[in-house]
Amino acid sequence: MILPPGNCPACKRNDQVQKVTAIHRNSSVTRMETQVTTSVTVTYDSAGNPTYNSVPQTTTVPVTHQTRLGALLSPPQCKRIPLPIGEKIIFWLCPLFAFVFSFGLISFLERFFPHALDAFVAFSPLVACLLLPFIFGGILIGPPLLLAFLTHNVFFRQANKRRHELQRQERERWQYLVRQWEQFCYCHRCDGVFSASAEKIAAPAQIQQLYRQ
Ligand SMILES: [Zn+2]
Repeated sequence: MILPPGNCPACKRNDQVQKVTAIHRNSSVTRMETQVTTSVTVTYDSAGNPTYNSVPQTTTVPVTHQTRLGALLSPPQCKRIPLPIGEKIIFWLCPLFAFVFSFGLISFLERFFPHALDAFVAFSPLVACLLLPFIFGGILIGPPLLLAFLTHNVFFRQANKRRHELQRQERERWQYLVRQWEQFCYCHRCDGVFSASAEKIAAPAQIQQLYRQ
């Protein structure tokens, strides 16, 4: 349950108190703004003397502003637990493996079945036309997909199980912190953040002190 803004522990009043969630939500605005850039042109007279002219150009771009207070009162962030490093390396190497595999397979076929493709096309050009893109596509995409699947689900199964468990714990910790953040209030008179359910007050830059871990 989210409590309404309470009295500030410092000044004991609530007339200047606002929920941190509301301050944060209203702290960023995106506006279309005109930006002026100048470009310089140069012209030469008949004697070859240069004349420089600066021409102002205006462009309209969307600019997002966040107040400093709004940024300080941001909600806690959920950390992402990264993939096991060995798995990442294998993923990056997948295209290389695919290339080596396809190259090897094609050289093998050319060496031992040099006329297989011709025979296939001669047998039925229509079937060949329909099937060959799938066969070549499969040869190109299949092995790296299989390797990626095996890497994630077999080779790094334990590491990924642990990672999911860590991610689950992190998500729970984060939700716990967000529930606390939702209770935070800010007193504009005292420039202090406090939790609606505790007496502690801290400066916006020290908001971390208010969280119970
Ligand atoms: Zn106050």
